[in-house]
Amino acid sequence: MADNTNVLVVEDEPAIVELVSYSLREAGWDIRSADTAQGAWESISRGKPDLVLLDWMLPDQSGLRLLARLRADRDFQDIPVIMLTAKSMEEDKIAGLNNGADDYVTKPFSPRELLARSRALLRRKSPHLAEAPLRAGAVTLDPNSCTVVVEGQQIEIGNAEYKLLKFLMAHRERVFSRAQLLDKVWGDHAVIEERTVDVHVLRLRKALKSADGLIRTVRSVGYMLSEK
Ligand code: CA
Repeated sequence: MADNTNVLVVEDEPAIVELVSYSLREAGWDIRSADTAQGAWESISRGKPDLVLLDWMLPDQSGLRLLARLRADRDFQDIPVIMLTAKSMEEDKIAGLNNGADDYVTKPFSPRELLARSRALLRRKSPHLAEAPLRAGAVTLDPNSCTVVVEGQQIEIGNAEYKLLKFLMAHRERVFSRAQLLDKVWGDHAVIEERTVDVHVLRLRKALKSADGLIRTVRSVGYMLSEK
């Protein structure tokens, strides 16, 4: 599997950092943040992100200055950057774009819009980050748009069920215990009981409709996705 998309959020308002981080993590991306331009520079120097979301107004210097510094640096000039700006002044948008921003969103923005703009930018600038769709039987899962299609019809699927399905499709024909699924799908932060896995499996089967037979129960062991 491809490494997760790595996003740096440069923003000094904790509420916005939290909102953005939460939304983008839901999309399966790795998020780190910095609350100053200097902190952002240090973070980028330690590891180049796939995308930078850059606030215009930072406590130590403007986001625009940081942007100019990135664009002047041979190693960092190609990093996709979206400016987050409270300013709606046309000349500020133009200044950002002239200084090398790839796109901008004006606060207040919806997390959904930010995610859509981020995805569009990454598709445009970093097609290598796009992951191949997963297929099993009549089911196709597209990790880039986070959509699932069964027999040509896009289905409604919850976030937890989507993550579970993606994991099982990537590791088909292998049985996982409930504890393993909790660990692999929900990660260490999850404080949920093993019984919860059964609930999500139930919902996943329901969402998959005619393809529900792909998700097998292996008695006293756990679950697997099998095409056999
Ligand atoms: Ca700010």
